[in-house]
Formats: sequence, C-alpha cells, structure tokens
Amino acid sequence: MTEALIEGFLRFRKQAYETPDAVMPALVRDGQAPDYFVISCIDSRTNPGMIFNVPPGTFFAHKAMGAIVRPYKHGTALAAALQYALTYNNVSKLIILGHTCCGAIHALIDDIEDSEIASFIEVAKTGLARAQAMADNETDHDDLHRHAEEQIVLQSAENLKGYPSVARALDENRLIIKPWLFDMSAGDLLEYDENNAQFVSLLQNGAKKEL
Ligand SMILES: [Zn+2]
Repeated sequence: MTEALIEGFLRFRKQAYETPDAVMPALVRDGQAPDYFVISCIDSRTNPGMIFNVPPGTFFAHKAMGAIVRPYKHGTALAAALQYALTYNNVSKLIILGHTCCGAIHALIDDIEDSEIASFIEVAKTGLARAQAMADNETDHDDLHRHAEEQIVLQSAENLKGYPSVARALDENRLIIKPWLFDMSAGDLLEYDENNAQFVSLLQNGAKKEL
C-alpha cells in the first residue's frame, strides 16, 4: 500500500511549497547548485535525505549496496552522475556514507551464494581482506564487521580517485573526498581521520566540526 508514501509527500509538499520560506519554487525557478555528492547504501535506514535532514537542493545522491564504489568503468551510472556533478555543477565535497550493521557487508563476510548480489559486492573484497588482517581476533565477528565497514568505505574512496571526473577535480583542488560512517546503533556520524588512521566522531564534544 502506498498511502504512507503519499501522506509523506503531502507533508513534504506543505513544507517545501506552501510555507513562507518554501524552497522548491526558487529551486525550480533558479535551478540547483548542490555543494555535496553523497554515495550511500540502499539500506532503508540510512537514506541521506532522512538522516541529514537538510533542505532540497543540498546534495546529489547515488546509492549502491554497501555504498560500494567499483573501480572506474566507462559509462556506468555512477561515472555519468559524477561527470555531471563535477564537470557541469560545482560540487566540492564527495561523501561516501557507509554504515554499521550493513547487510551488504555481512553478505560479503558470509560469502553469500546469490550470484547477482555476490558479483557486485565482491569488488569490496580488498577492503574485507584489510579488515581481516586488522581484526585482533578473527573469530570476533563484531570486530571484523566494523573493520570491514570502515575499510570498504576507504576502498571506495580510493576507487573514486580512478574516475576521470574525480581525478580532474582533485587535481584542480576543487574537490574533497570524505569517507564517512553512520553508526546506526550509536546514532553517531564518523569521518576518517588520516592523521590518526581511524574513524572519529564528527559530533565530538557536542561541537560540529567544520565540514
Ligand atoms: Zn548497507
């Protein structure tokens, strides 16, 4: 039944079209100019439109199982979207939003037999191998999962650098790639800190870090 979706749309319409500060009419009239491009998992609990709770026009969105980014291949949905966002728009921050309790990562660890799914997620095996090497005790499933979720975000960030539009934007110093992890259990948002080689909360001390 679609009633819940239609009711939700009516709430959105009221806020975005019918209030004094409604943003949609201006966005339609003037066009969009998002600063961000967010790559997230298809998981229904990690929808960036929901968890960031920002106005329309803030970010482009791309979804893939596990927020996994394959190595570059000409003409894929992601390659075309990035080309559009980085070459014909002024996106300056590219966010890879992994998350904890990710079913795709679980499936990768558990060697899922469904070939349709396996053939996509297997591109993240390098990240899983790094996670397995890092886990203190490979029998500790929770540690392995968390390492894998983090390492696969980092691997996706590396793969992104092979996309021509991304490489060009990085070369011209007009793009930052941000590997993020939504900790679904803790209700936290973390970013990879290169200096300390670990994911750290962006909400530390209640302060909002400059993004
Ligand atoms: Zn997921």
